[in-house]
This record gives sequence, C-alpha cells and structure tokens, in this order.
Amino acid sequence: MAVIKHIGVIGAGQMGSGIAQVCAAAGFDLVLLDISEEALAKGIAVISRNLDRAVSKGKITEADKAATLGRIKTTCDYADFRDSDLVIEAATEDEKIKRAIFQKLCPELRPEALVATNTSSLSITRLGASTDRPSRFMGMHFMNPVPAMQLVELIRGIATGEDTFAQVREMTLTLGKKPVAAEDFPAFIVNRILLPMINEAVYTLYEGVGSVSSIDTALRLGANHPMGPLELADFIGLDTCLAVMQVLHDGLADTKYRPCPLLVKYVEAGWLGRKTGRGFYDYSGETPVPTR
Ligand code: NAD
Repeated sequence: MAVIKHIGVIGAGQMGSGIAQVCAAAGFDLVLLDISEEALAKGIAVISRNLDRAVSKGKITEADKAATLGRIKTTCDYADFRDSDLVIEAATEDEKIKRAIFQKLCPELRPEALVATNTSSLSITRLGASTDRPSRFMGMHFMNPVPAMQLVELIRGIATGEDTFAQVREMTLTLGKKPVAAEDFPAFIVNRILLPMINEAVYTLYEGVGSVSSIDTALRLGANHPMGPLELADFIGLDTCLAVMQVLHDGLADTKYRPCPLLVKYVEAGWLGRKTGRGFYDYSGETPVPTR
C-alpha cells in the first residue's frame, strides 16, 4: 500500500485551517490553497492562535509551533499540488464550487494521487463522478473544531477503491484521530442522528412541552449530554441545522425529517445562534439568556 506523505488542503476556512493544522502537526508536508491571499492569511492566523494556546497550556513547545507552521505552504495555484499524495477539499458547501475546484485540481495531480472531500451533506458518489478518478475519491468528514474533535467519518462512494479507503484510514490514524466508516447516504452517521434530535428539541419547544432552559437542562441532566440540544443548535448555527434537515428530508423522502417550522422561522429572522448574537439564547450580555 502506498504511504501518504504530501497533503494538499483546499479552503482555509474554519474546517480547512483546522485540517491543515492537525496534518502539519502530525508531520505531513502541507500545501494550503484558497481563492485569495486574504483568505489564506486569515487561515494561518487562526492556526497560529490555536498553536499559541497549545504552547501556553504546555501541550507543545515554541519549537513545535514553529515546525508545524514551517510545514505549511500557502498558495492560490493548483500547480502546487503536483507532489500531493492526497488532497482534502474543504471549501464552501456548494456543489458548483466543489465541482469547479475538482476540474482545476485533477489535471495538476499525479495519476495515483487521492482526493477526499470534507462535505457534510453532498453525495460522495456524485462528487467523485465529477472527477477523473472516482476510485481514488472518498469522503473524509472531520468534526468542528478539528484540533479538538477525535472523530473522522470516512465515507466510501460507490466507486471508491478499497486501497484508497485503506490509505486514507491509515493516514487518519497517523493524525491521532479515530476513523469510523460510513456509507454514502445523506448526512452520514453523526449528523443523521444528531440533527433529528436537535430538530425534535425545537418541536418540543414549538409545542410548548418545555421552555428553552427546561429542555436543555432535561437533556444535560437526564441523558448526561455535555450540552443541551438548543444550546448545541446555537453553537452549530441554526442555518446549518436547517440545511442538514433539508438534505435528510429531500434525500430520504421521509416526513420524520421535516424541519420544525420554528427552526425555519428563526433562520428567516436571521437568528442563527451564537454567530449572529441570537438564537434560542440571547448572547448580547455576559451570560446567554434563554429567549423562550
Ligand atoms: P468556511 O466558510 O469557514 O470556509 C470555506 C473556505 O473555502 C473559505 O476560506 C473560502 O474562501 C474557501 N473557498 C470558497 N470558494 C473556494 C474556491 N473556489 N476555491 C478555494 N477555496 C474556496 O466553511 P467551513 O465551515 O470551513 O466548511 C468547509 C467544508 O467543511 C464544507 O464542505 C462544510 O460542509 C464542511 N464541514 C463543516 C463543518 C462545520 O461545522 N463548519 C463540519 C464538518 C464539515
């Protein structure tokens, strides 16, 4: 089995910067691409801040930080992926954007290079079919925030080769992450189970069964969840929660996945959770205040 040494990451946002950080920290040479120097500088600043925090907690040394940053080369030119063994795409969740990326990427790659996508909701099989290498294409779904979360869901498209899967699984273990295999169905495993629970919590609020704080307290203390479902929804972003429910509803055509009308209304109001300062909680003060 070929061993992955050189990695490419496309997209230096929330996920791409985290993926680049953990790969470089694990010793891989890394090329990070985005559409502009500004986006790349933002990504590198996030990585640098994360590493500073790790230094101040005594988890790594200044020398480790410098070595990790030293392994990351930033670029806007796809030709810099010519030596990559694996390129992980973590750009904006939009199928047109991802397809356009693969059109530019594939001609620059060596024939044996692997491509993975971090998509949360798009079909791996369909994305793989848009490349010149469906058998060397698969899903690699990291969790947010990447440096802190242990799990990576590894998703086979219908054409994904066993050798591809085995190489990517091995590389995931080298990152110190725990891989879990999932088949290519809408929302894979984590979001397939987590988001209907969050949606049900919103229905529970909508129907007046409980208030925001009683629902969150009930799940924290009654099911031992570290965060209540509404608190978690605000953390993920209510627009993202709604988008995943729509993918489940459309992709599996089962009414049990219908998004709660109250969730739709919050998104329409622009109350998207922590990132907009208001969701099921109001974040304008010192401590979050339940809104219902
Ligand atoms: P983000 O908005 O933080 O970052 C997206 C990045 O992609 C930006 O830096 C943007 O400039 C870049 N980009 C856009 N178009 C591009 C192009 N044509 N070429 C190169 N770069 C381009 O988004 P994110 O939250 O990091 O999500 C990225 C991917 O990860 C999505 O597919 C998303 O579904 C998936 N994902 C997100 C989460 C999460 O919790 N945010 C979790 C798991 C997976």
